[in-house]
Parts: sequence; C-alpha cells; structure tokens
Amino acid sequence: MWQKTISQVVSCSGVGVHTGERISLTLRPSAKNSGISFIRTDVTHKNNVVPAKWNYVVDTHHSTTIGNKDSITVGTVEHVMAALHAQGVNNVIVELSGPEVPIMDGSAAPFIFLIECAGIVTQNAQREILHILNQVEVSLGDGRYIGIMPSDGFSLSLDHDFKGRCGRSVEHYEMHDLEGNFKAELARARTFGFYEDAQKLWSSGLAKGGSLSNAVVISEDGVMNPEGLRYDNECVRHKALDVIGDLYLAGHPIQGAVYGKNVGHCLNNKLLQAIFEKKDAWTLTYSPSPEYFQENRPMIAAARVIHSAI
Ligand code: ZN
Repeated sequence: MWQKTISQVVSCSGVGVHTGERISLTLRPSAKNSGISFIRTDVTHKNNVVPAKWNYVVDTHHSTTIGNKDSITVGTVEHVMAALHAQGVNNVIVELSGPEVPIMDGSAAPFIFLIECAGIVTQNAQREILHILNQVEVSLGDGRYIGIMPSDGFSLSLDHDFKGRCGRSVEHYEMHDLEGNFKAELARARTFGFYEDAQKLWSSGLAKGGSLSNAVVISEDGVMNPEGLRYDNECVRHKALDVIGDLYLAGHPIQGAVYGKNVGHCLNNKLLQAIFEKKDAWTLTYSPSPEYFQENRPMIAAARVIHSAI
C-alpha cells in the first residue's frame, strides 16, 4: 500500500561478471516518488544517472543493461532489481563504482541480505501498482514466449526446456505470492550456463568474472560445481528470479499472472514494451479495488482457466 525506501546507507563489493573488474555497490535511501536510479560514481564528465526503467534498456544479451542518452550504461541490473522488487522497495539510489552490478554469488540472496541489513522504512505516499487488464503475450517464434494475464495478485508459472542438452529435460516452477516466497524459494537460485558456451565467451573476451563461485556450470558429465545444486530445479528458479528483476523495470509492482517458456532478458523486456504499447492492457492503481473484481469476475475466472491449461 505504501512506498518504501531503506533506512540507512549500505554497501557491498564484488566482481563484475562481464568485465571481471572489482566493483562497489552502495544503496542509499531516496525520497518518496523518486523511484529507483543507478548512479555510476566512476563517471564524472557526463550524466552518470540511469533510471531503472524498461525504456532505458539498451542490451539484453546474457543480462539486462540499461543506459542513458550520454551512452552511460549499467549492466546486470536484474538480480538487485529482483531483491528490491521482492522486498517492496520503491525508492532507492544504487551507486556503482563501475559499469555493472557485482555478480556476488550469481543469485539475489546477497542483495536481500544487504537490504535487510539496511532496514526498510515506509514513506508517506501510496505506491502505484501496474494492474494488468487484458492479456499480453510475446514470442520469439521458436517456442520461446512470455505472457501476462489479469489476476488478483502477482503469480508466475514458467517452464524451461533444455531439450536434452547435457542430459537435462524440462524444469517447471510456479509461485503465487512474491513477498512471502521469494527469499526461501528464489533468492538463492544462481545464474547458470553450459561449459561449452562459457569457453566460447571466455575466448571472445566476455564473462571475464564468471566462475564456479558465481554460476552453475553444466557439462556433458553433469553439474561441475563441487557443491552441486541449491534446488533440484535451480535453473528455472533462476529464470523466475530474472523475470521478477526485469519486470520491476516497469517502475511499479505488477498485478498479473505471468507465464512463459524458455524466457530470457530479451523476452522479459519485450513483454514490458508490449504492455505499455497496448493502452487497454493496463492501468495504474493504488490498490486493487473490490469493485474492479466484482465487475471483471467472469474475465478473471476465464483467465485462470487458460492459465492453468498452459
Ligand atoms: Zn540472472
């Protein structure tokens, strides 16, 4: 119901997965209605502020990168955005000493811990919710798709089909209450990749900071990490974590039922673009009104049937 920020300044540092550079991240409280912004403290001669909004996304290969008109970019925003989304933080400044958010252990758990260390305060302003009124779906035409339907809360239902690669098949995950379940079910799910792909990235000078300490790496012989997986379906759980982070670039928490198959940062951003292009697909409200659900009960019931059949 109410906007929130953090109580005090907190910091952490770690390696950037793409650059391999050591980067500091500082979260600072910010005023009501200010939203979430990233600030590059290593940039002093240009505009170093990049708003955490879907229309500032400039690249979705391997991670989500946002950038401003001065071509100042911030990479890998999705895991800290997922933690802020799950903790209900609306207003915060994320300061970085370099071009990407540190990867930490490849999950959102370190950022949840950081936000909990800072503490959360309620602000004297109501928060707006992006309320989905009509179904929106986008696909890449190769079996990968993501969609959202009207619902009386936020929910997520995802499949990830490895198509037998390295002996892996289909993983499924669904969640019906973001704030109640994120920390236990999703926060610790790490980013993942195949050893074969990682070798190609390294030989191209990419993913310089990537290692078994910040990603699940899968080879023909199975999971290479000595500690194994944190959840049986850790990969699709990480996909869900990424969706929750990427969709928070809407600028508001979303009320809708998200579903998808083999989703990724590109599809997640395309979904936000498609929602905002379709004026009758959404509205901003302070909270779901009982009158809305009375008026739209048949449509919401039909959406649930379609959703459960997917
Ligand atoms: Zn991720």
